Amino acid sequence: MDETETWETVCRVCGHDDADVFWADGWPTAEICSCCGNESDVGDDSVAGLRNYRGYWVGQGAPWQSPRAERKHRSQGWDLLRQLANIPEQWR
Ligand SMILES: [Zn+2]
Repeated sequence: MDETETWETVCRVCGHDDADVFWADGWPTAEICSCCGNESDVGDDSVAGLRNYRGYWVGQGAPWQSPRAERKHRSQGWDLLRQLANIPEQWR
């Protein structure tokens, strides 16, 4: 996989994108997703690992990490399934 000069702003676990950078050039930034609460490199360093995290998170009812971000996105008609469809293909 070519990882040159890539900034990942889409959460690999939940597809959330608030322009926070989770991975820069293939390196984790330790950014915590305001939606699913995953910290880059903790739950999402492998497809198997992030599927596990995602399944657990959705199984809990997909709780938001940040109440502030939740209010903002819910007021804009947040839709979990639409967000999940945003996950890059290689991390689904
Ligand atoms: Zn997330």
